[in-house]
Amino acid sequence: MIELPEAFINKMEELLGEQYSGFIESYNERANQGLTVNTLKIDIKIFLSMAPFDLTPVPWSKDGFYYGYRDRPGKHPYYDAGLYYIQEPSAMAPARLLDVKPGHKVLDLCAAPGGKAFQLAADLKGRGFIIANEIDAARARVLGENLERMGVKNAVITRESPDRLAKVLPDYFDRILVDAPCSGEGMFRKNPEVRSMWSATLPDRCSRRQKDILGYAAQMLAPGGRMVYSTCTFSPEENEGVVDWFLKQHPEFSLVTVQGFDWFESGLPEWIAHNPELSKTYRLWPHRIKGEGHFIAVFERKLTGGPGSLPLFYKRWGLRKELSEYKSFIKENLYQDIDGPLYMHKDQLYLIPESLPDLSSLRVLRPGFNLGVLRKGRFIPSHALAMALKKQQAVQSIDFPGNSKEIRQYINGETLNGFKGKGWALVTVDGYSVGWARLSGGLMKNHYPKGLRRLLDNDINELL
Ligand code: SAM
Repeated sequence: MIELPEAFINKMEELLGEQYSGFIESYNERANQGLTVNTLKIDIKIFLSMAPFDLTPVPWSKDGFYYGYRDRPGKHPYYDAGLYYIQEPSAMAPARLLDVKPGHKVLDLCAAPGGKAFQLAADLKGRGFIIANEIDAARARVLGENLERMGVKNAVITRESPDRLAKVLPDYFDRILVDAPCSGEGMFRKNPEVRSMWSATLPDRCSRRQKDILGYAAQMLAPGGRMVYSTCTFSPEENEGVVDWFLKQHPEFSLVTVQGFDWFESGLPEWIAHNPELSKTYRLWPHRIKGEGHFIAVFERKLTGGPGSLPLFYKRWGLRKELSEYKSFIKENLYQDIDGPLYMHKDQLYLIPESLPDLSSLRVLRPGFNLGVLRKGRFIPSHALAMALKKQQAVQSIDFPGNSKEIRQYINGETLNGFKGKGWALVTVDGYSVGWARLSGGLMKNHYPKGLRRLLDNDINELL
């Protein structure tokens, strides 16, 4: 068995009583591994017919699957094509309980690396928008890359503290996810670093920060809106304790239970606070389900007053320049125009969600969907644009099979030869976009971003 902190073992034994033996035995088993299929890019049935992995459904997530212990989906070109996001199965649940619908205005307040933000964006189906916020600069960049790989077009990435966001966006969002930073006890089985960082006082310290974050999040939810608070830890201080504190501070919020999630157990008021309402929260235990463990609370805000209305971003910052280079790129390379307000920041061109409010006083990392860069009178399309395009939209495309040597060479940044044609071509793997190339003189020049290039598994059995 993995080595667990002694104070953690003692605390769980005292809290869990009869259930303790099942809980502790679960640490002899392997961590569960899962992936969420990207329905923005591919139909689930088609994915299941193509994927060379041993997949079984995760019962609580319509697009979630466990994969086999021998599978390495992170090393397959379908990963680079954004056909799925590798996600721990219990971490799939908070987004499902938030119940995002197309057209909603969504905030993911603690969003990096972006698994849940991607699920929420997929539920939007391209309508409405999501602001994915992450306070840490390096993690915010990873969040940007992940949403780009998944082909999300209606996400804005901010790098803000919750209090500054709350000042600009009061009573605004239909849906808010607070997937809070926590002591990570549910990560012990798969992450030794989290185990070594844990201490007996960490849950208390985390709970103070969680209350702070949740309090600001509440200020941004529109009346009648829904907010989900989640952690990947077991400590009552960070879970029922935070929820109890929040309900006392915010009588305009109440806990709701959502039908159809019977796999999960109730929260445990008897562990802390003794408020019976807390049994409406959810606990996901590693010895009761196939998942590493989570805590989830679903709140609704009473319908009093109307939602906040704010000046629109594009009305204030809308494009004034003539963009002939961009327009001729679209005309020459795509069969369809890209509709929506455009915005230039320095030399970068973005497509902005139509109903996006004015965020000019905030630290915005990406104000929308990055289309490309206008430099020295030329338009260079972005990797994000390639990732969001379908093969049929591109005038010129080159397709490689998922088990081919060529797709591995492309993702590794190599130039390939023997190609007819001239100019931009969308590179696809089994029909799904993975990046750009430029054709000239029989060569396929590689435009796969340098920072993403890598060596993939070259399973010889797969290649034969
Ligand atoms: N939701 C993410 C996902 O599914 O990929 C995981 C989020 S992780 C549990 C919590 C995130 O909150 C971390 O990336 C951390 O940097 C961020 N964070 C820490 N303090 C924060 C704060 N005060 N406000 C907002 N985010 C914070």
